[in-house]
Amino acid sequence: MELQKKIDSTFESRFGGHGAVYASAGRINLIGEHTDYNGGFVFPGAIDKVIMAEIRPNDTDTVRVFSIDIDEYTEFGLNEADAPKQSWARYIFGVCREILKRGGNVHGFDAVFAGNVPLGAGLSSSAALESCFAFAINDLFNNNQIDKFELARIGQSTEHNYCGVNCGIMDQFASVMGKAGHLMRLDCRSMEFEYFPFCPENHSLVLIDSRVKHELADSPYNKRRASCERVAKRLGIETLRDADMDMLNAIKTDITAEDYFRAKFVIEEKERVLTVCDALVNGDYETVGRCMYETHAGLSKDYEVSCEELDYLNDVARECGVTGSRIMGGGFGGCTINLVENDKMDKFVEEAKKRFNEKYGHEPKVYPVVISDGAHKVCEATH
Ligand code: ADP
Ligand code: MG
Repeated sequence: MELQKKIDSTFESRFGGHGAVYASAGRINLIGEHTDYNGGFVFPGAIDKVIMAEIRPNDTDTVRVFSIDIDEYTEFGLNEADAPKQSWARYIFGVCREILKRGGNVHGFDAVFAGNVPLGAGLSSSAALESCFAFAINDLFNNNQIDKFELARIGQSTEHNYCGVNCGIMDQFASVMGKAGHLMRLDCRSMEFEYFPFCPENHSLVLIDSRVKHELADSPYNKRRASCERVAKRLGIETLRDADMDMLNAIKTDITAEDYFRAKFVIEEKERVLTVCDALVNGDYETVGRCMYETHAGLSKDYEVSCEELDYLNDVARECGVTGSRIMGGGFGGCTINLVENDKMDKFVEEAKKRFNEKYGHEPKVYPVVISDGAHKVCEATH
């Protein structure tokens, strides 16, 4: 509510009157890491941290927009030549351009926006920003005729073509399609998805952000991809999605130990997502948590994308009796995601902060998250 009030009063003082208000969310991924480029499953959900924008058509061809958090104003026309310099505005410009490219309608508008998705913490504030404007433009100028999945693709193309980030579809997908109390299993091969209930009565999710990011000289991401592709090729399949452990073990002596362990992680991770989905249907959060620890161990030992700080946070979680804990995201820094019984939460957060600070000289950041709705209209212009 506070966010909305701030946006409302800023809109009124900048532009006079009011526009409609829209929001879209950041996201977590409960399980399913490094599976996207192997044709496997990811399992994200939208969270209760959003980018919110108040928007009103202005009957011109100019977009006029103010970022409350960055305290900057810019305006741009809707032609390619008018791309704004500010990086935050390029997300909005990109969304407009991508909708126009697809034959959709975009006209000039006035907008004010702000958010509470932490920037660069692995919660996809950029996807929230893109999805918020894509959803709003669909509602204001396209009668909601653009399919919601296409809105996610518009955000993804924006990152590719206007922001220099070659990302997959998961972040925008989760931001647009998220539903309170549900996670979504997205099949990265067929792009089919399914909602699964996530409403633990006595557990909550908390992210612990190590605030470290190890930049490695070679590209570990490309090396992991190359290992997976080599093994798939050796097996005569397109991606490791179609492999199982028997197939992998049958070629074990023909491939390097490194490639073997990389592929082993991917195959096991694909299975773990399915196990977690079954467990959620049965309300079995113990199994969910166990799978999260297994993912962490796999990412750390087989895929080798963890780091000392994240392994330490995982150890602290285990020692505090946390139900499930793992690295979230590509690795080498960032957050752990933790599924914690409510009566153990305060103690865990306190311990993690204290012990991490003692060992690494700074406190991690703590983000409690609740699985919430994705892109939506908050209220009409007449409010
Ligand atoms: P993340 O992992 O959070 O998506 P990115 O680097 O991809 O991190 O995106 C962060 C960028 O998105 C910021 O540098 C800024 O340009 C834009 N952004 C995100 N949140 C906001 C906000 N609240 N206000 C203005 N711009 C934002
Ligand atoms: Mg981003």
